[in-house]
Amino acid sequence: MRLESHTASVWTQLTPLSAPDSAAPHAGLDAAPRAIFVDLEGALVEPLPDNVDPAGLRLRPLALDGLRLLADAGYRLIVVTQQPGLAYGIFSRAALSRLHAALARIAQAQGVHLADFYACPHAPGAGRVDACLCRAPSPGLMRQAARGHGLALAQSWLVGDTLDDIEAGHRAGCRSLLLDVGSETEWRISPLRQPDVRAANLLQAAQAILACGPARAEAAPLARAARPASAAPSRQAGLQQLAARWWGRLAFGHRPTS
Ligand SMILES: [Zn+2]
Repeated sequence: MRLESHTASVWTQLTPLSAPDSAAPHAGLDAAPRAIFVDLEGALVEPLPDNVDPAGLRLRPLALDGLRLLADAGYRLIVVTQQPGLAYGIFSRAALSRLHAALARIAQAQGVHLADFYACPHAPGAGRVDACLCRAPSPGLMRQAARGHGLALAQSWLVGDTLDDIEAGHRAGCRSLLLDVGSETEWRISPLRQPDVRAANLLQAAQAILACGPARAEAAPLARAARPASAAPSRQAGLQQLAARWWGRLAFGHRPTS
């Protein structure tokens, strides 16, 4: 049964990466599947701080409608999540697996197949403690998923609710969409942290992603869809061009020359 294999895979995927910056072997092949990496807490479901009780799962409005649209268009749906509660001993890996399985069942009942879950089990680095290589803004989870599923990262998207998520997606070589749901409060902008697209909910996100087309161009196709009315168009366009130039190079390991 699918859920059993799904649960088993969560265990293996909690293992941190030893070499997250190695290129995914299948990335860039035309035949490789593309994915939507959706951040669990904040983007897909309401925040569940250190809580893995399936009874507390509350999907974001229109979340499954959006994901269904993307799945129908050929995207593989992969949930990514950061779970420092594992490092702190607040809950077990088995409890987290049960939460993921419950979410997969809820989605499947609505006709949405969540293909896999990838979780960072580490605490944030602080002081002399190094940050791990899979907690956003590091791209480890996406790279691990790319190896596991043979994904084309350049044709994949990260959907998250913070700029750390956006940066992780870009570092993995994906495009990144920010859900404006109030999670981001610091707004530390840099080229890598500039979203390609912003949306108010996952249905709007799906429509914007589909409008962007399948592949990331050299100058990233930065959609105007769903931009908040408050944004200043000219400044935003300039930042987006700058972001495209920088992260297009950084994502492939080259240093900007200008
Ligand atoms: Zn980690």
